[in-house]
Amino acid sequence: MDDCIFCQLAHKEIPTDVVYEDDTVFAFKDIEPMAKIHYLFIPKKHITSVNDLKEGDAAVVADIFKAIATVAARDGFAETGYRVVTNTGADGNQSVYHLHFHVLGGEPIRFPGFD
Ligand code: 5GP
Ligand code: ZN
Repeated sequence: MDDCIFCQLAHKEIPTDVVYEDDTVFAFKDIEPMAKIHYLFIPKKHITSVNDLKEGDAAVVADIFKAIATVAARDGFAETGYRVVTNTGADGNQSVYHLHFHVLGGEPIRFPGFD
């Protein structure tokens, strides 16, 4: 989608701090980190939110989680642990409408209502 900021990042139309890339998955550092490690993992293909996942999207969601595990091991925070968060819609505080998974780690992660 032309007016989607995360599509523009994935297509390298805007530079960003890339932490992982393969055929289907793109990951980069969050511009406003909420933890020592705060990465965002997205499908390269535009999917608006969890609400918009279709039958054929199962593989890309699995690819994203495999990529998260690969990067966590590579960057040394697999053992200490991390939190994966996906916000959906208004009540979920989703601000960018391209499906993304926050990966928060590098320190104990607190989250309102989930401590
Ligand atoms: P949401 O609130 O939709 O779950 O998360 C969107 C996230 O995207 C926020 O944490 C925000 O800081 C991040 N973000 C928004 N625009 C950009 C950008 O242009 N570059 C990067 N690297 N992160 C962004
Ligand atoms: Zn998009």
